[in-house]
Amino acid sequence: MSEIIYLDNNATTAVAPEVLDAMAPYFREAYGNPSSMHNFGGQLAHQVQSAREQVAKLFHAQDTEILFTSCGTESDNSAIRGVLEAYPEKRHIITTRVEHPAVLSLCAHLEHRGYRVTYLPVDSRGRLDPDQLRQAIQPDTAIVSVMYANNETGTVFPIEKIAEIVKERGVVFHCDAVQAPGKLSLDMQRIPADLVSISGHKLHGPKGVGVLYIRRGTRFVPFIIGGHQERGRRGGTENVAGIVGLGKACELARKHENEEKRKISELRDHLEQELVKKIPEVHINGDVEHRLVSTSNISFSYIEGEAILLKLSEQGICASSGSACTSGSLEPSHVLRAMGVPFTLIHGSIRFSFSRYNTQAEVDRVIKILPPIIEELRAMSPFWANRPGK
Ligand code: PLP
Repeated sequence: MSEIIYLDNNATTAVAPEVLDAMAPYFREAYGNPSSMHNFGGQLAHQVQSAREQVAKLFHAQDTEILFTSCGTESDNSAIRGVLEAYPEKRHIITTRVEHPAVLSLCAHLEHRGYRVTYLPVDSRGRLDPDQLRQAIQPDTAIVSVMYANNETGTVFPIEKIAEIVKERGVVFHCDAVQAPGKLSLDMQRIPADLVSISGHKLHGPKGVGVLYIRRGTRFVPFIIGGHQERGRRGGTENVAGIVGLGKACELARKHENEEKRKISELRDHLEQELVKKIPEVHINGDVEHRLVSTSNISFSYIEGEAILLKLSEQGICASSGSACTSGSLEPSHVLRAMGVPFTLIHGSIRFSFSRYNTQAEVDRVIKILPPIIEELRAMSPFWANRPGK
């Protein structure tokens, strides 16, 4: 197989070499437990603290506001469950129809436990109406959970404004910002969110580590109860290597944000412009004006996204489809459905997502390989043969 061209960076990213170097000693020689009385282990508490400070800088926050978790899903679950437990009399939750399953499946589960959940709709470009959010807030709303940027389409929500609306009403606001680091500002001096989730493996850090930012003063009951780690807010021996790696990844994200954003958006725009030129009936999904620089969600009408992915995969190109592969089904994407994307486009959607390690040569290869794949698949499609206005 030819060399891998990895364009699935919203799913996960390569660990940066600098991150791997920073982590290596904690697997080899410095394998102690930071809670130990002896120096060999105990000194590692300093490394965990340094990493916490690196992460806090990304959030323009205090280090005491940073809680290490195991992943984005845990951060989302901890935030929502932790607040619900702190306000047992409040039984209403607000979220959107386009959240990640880490929030949506939890909300469905909570509905079975007697909570009421409002799922805010989005328009055809995946945008949220802030007035609808304002009107949805009820006296017993415990928490509003709205993502920063959509993992499938890249659509960015005006999170500062959304947080302001929620805070005006005195409700706790959680933001799933897993796709944001290195691409969008996480300045908590500006964004009045109470809780914010990120995940190590989406920003060239390792898998198995995440962060929940908890603004000072936020009422929150720990989700994982055990030892006294994380100032009693999450039990469990610290993932020292992972935490150190995530600290380094946050430092790199901060340092390289501007140059990377420019480079990645140029690659993304080049890909889209050329595909639109070379392939008929191509549609870009999402809010093209307010989108993550890394993300391109493209529909090729009248064919199946999975067929395109398999053909690309044979050529070593990794992308992803809009289908709910995470659930193991081929149900069309809940995000594109919420946007009302027509049936003929929804099944043929592909997501390309870029990182700092992608090159122009890789994008040019996709531009060369993809048009004949689409042509071949459409030649076999009865829907394409019988399309209206043919
Ligand atoms: N939230 C969003 C927006 C995501 O994109 C993801 C992962 O794809 C998650 C949450 C879950 O993160 P993790 O894989 O670290 O559990």
